[in-house]
Amino acid sequence: MKIKVKNSTRKKMGKIAKILVVLWAFVFLIIGFELFSKNEIKFVAKDYFLRVSSREIGSIEKAKHLDIKKVSLEEFLCNNNVTVDESLLLVNEKYKINENYVPQVIYLEERDVEINRCAKDAFDELSKALFEKTGETLFISSAYRDYDKQKEVKEEEGKIAQNPGCSEHQTGLAIDVFVKNFAGKSFIKSQSGQFVNEKCGDYGFIIRYPVFGEGKTGISYEPWHLRYVGLPHSQIISNSKITFEDYINFFELGDFYTYENYVITRQNTNNIFVPESYESAVVSEDNTGAIIITFKM
Ligand SMILES: [Zn+2]
Repeated sequence: MKIKVKNSTRKKMGKIAKILVVLWAFVFLIIGFELFSKNEIKFVAKDYFLRVSSREIGSIEKAKHLDIKKVSLEEFLCNNNVTVDESLLLVNEKYKINENYVPQVIYLEERDVEINRCAKDAFDELSKALFEKTGETLFISSAYRDYDKQKEVKEEEGKIAQNPGCSEHQTGLAIDVFVKNFAGKSFIKSQSGQFVNEKCGDYGFIIRYPVFGEGKTGISYEPWHLRYVGLPHSQIISNSKITFEDYINFFELGDFYTYENYVITRQNTNNIFVPESYESAVVSEDNTGAIIITFKM
């Protein structure tokens, strides 16, 4: 059966549709304006739109004209200017850590938490810089958690927490931070949260689960979860707007890369290649079966 619609009715309906479109546009404008007048949304939006593709890592390139020599790893680690730490362990659902893994942690008495030894000085410096900038104290809500503690957290928090064996908190390299009145997701609403998110790369830390990284990390934005990776890695990762997964993946085994006065190499054999001369070096396993050596030249 055909329904006949009168001309006048059709005109009326057209008018109503137009009014609805205008109304919707108006509502969207207001919502848009509301959102973008909020500092934290502006901050997060900027972070999202500034990201570059994972293969364009700023200012880092393959080393040319570098004199290298072959040494045994054992022999290399005996040098006084070579430090071994755990700063570049990649931990996620794919690269898990063992239930019995015990990292090199240090107890911070005044905060009553344990963090990885290698992150201590960097965290003090970041806290100091924040205090100088905003007058706020950077508190720690959680840092090192062993396997059993992570199991408990998973049971309590469910989906938001990582599975035991997949949490960076088991390395002591992850530090959950907050300032007075601004914890968790609202940390980024504070001036302090924005300072920490923007500047932590200069102090050896990265935002491990950045706003643009969910596709790679599988974890949504956590502005409070800092991860120590050390310099210059934190600067490269932060400035390039990539995830830690992208970063580790970027280094081809056996190749040498330069960044400012650093040389970085990822290798996986007992006999390694090192530059003929360097000032100092930091060696860390990456939890994918390789080690990453960071030379200061
Ligand atoms: Zn965390």
